[in-house]
Amino acid sequence: MSNVEAEPAAVRCGALVDDRRSAEVPHVDVLSPREVPLGGPRSMTVRRTLPQRDRTLIGAWCFADHYGPDDVAGSSGMDLPPHPHTGLQTVSWLFSGEVEHRDSLGTRGLIRPGEMNLMTGGYGIAHAEVSTPRTTVIHGVQLWVALPEEHRNTARDFQHHVPEPLRIDGAEARVFLGSLAGDTSPVQTFTPLLGAEIVLAPRAAVTLAVDTTFEHGLLVDSGDVRVADTRLRHAEMAYVDPGIDRLTLVNESEDPARTILLGGTPFEEEIVMWWNFVGRSHDDIVRAREDWQASSDRFGAVEGYPGNRLAAPALPNAVIRPRRNPAVVATRRPRPKGTS
Ligand code: MN
Repeated sequence: MSNVEAEPAAVRCGALVDDRRSAEVPHVDVLSPREVPLGGPRSMTVRRTLPQRDRTLIGAWCFADHYGPDDVAGSSGMDLPPHPHTGLQTVSWLFSGEVEHRDSLGTRGLIRPGEMNLMTGGYGIAHAEVSTPRTTVIHGVQLWVALPEEHRNTARDFQHHVPEPLRIDGAEARVFLGSLAGDTSPVQTFTPLLGAEIVLAPRAAVTLAVDTTFEHGLLVDSGDVRVADTRLRHAEMAYVDPGIDRLTLVNESEDPARTILLGGTPFEEEIVMWWNFVGRSHDDIVRAREDWQASSDRFGAVEGYPGNRLAAPALPNAVIRPRRNPAVVATRRPRPKGTS
């Protein structure tokens, strides 16, 4: 007899349960990156996997740029003049190089490999990011987290965390947000989130216990990595549905493989993203843009950047539409026969 009552942990609002799936073989979608120039005369190109047409968010992670390794010796490297953010947090994580961060809180600090810098935009913040003169190779990720409605106008903030590396079988993990393998980041988040760098030894396999209510994204920086049955190429992001309690990563190459694992409970609010702003409506975006162009106190000032701040691009002629995710399709764990 079939059991018509779905497991509460595996189903979220409006979720469809697909009986063909099981926890043994999680359903994986591959998100391919697209190359995006960051803009400006000495522009860096990044590989963007979020947002994209068929997926806006993974948990509250709403933006994922992966860049490098770029040899910047003899050039200006990364040079992002002061620019604003609203309604989101930025997470900066480097694999190599060094970036100087300045923001309108007065923070001035270095972003280094293995050290997370989390900046909360909230109602409004401005910052500049410039690679230091001694940086020869720049390589890392820039991630954004959408803030939920009740906190999206929170005060601006900046936090720095250096996770201890953890050994898990043939892997080394650094948990910068949330919990994994017994380590928990002390940095508070506004929605349940996971962010970790996981480096797999050559030919290593690791099985991680994960939160069944989370959906996950695995970005491959290097190596030949398989998630469940799905092989990923360089710079691809695997999307894994909620409903699983273990996630197995396999490095099928003879070299170390570096990945970034993201996770979170599905973010069910619709968001509007344009330029560096996250809001809930076209009007939110228009207002944020006007406030930036008018040098409003909303964003504050960045001291010490040798040059002009970025001007906002022109708004599109059309109304900016909200982005939403496809409906959550939870992976269902089969129940043992005879239970109800
Ligand atoms: Mn920024």
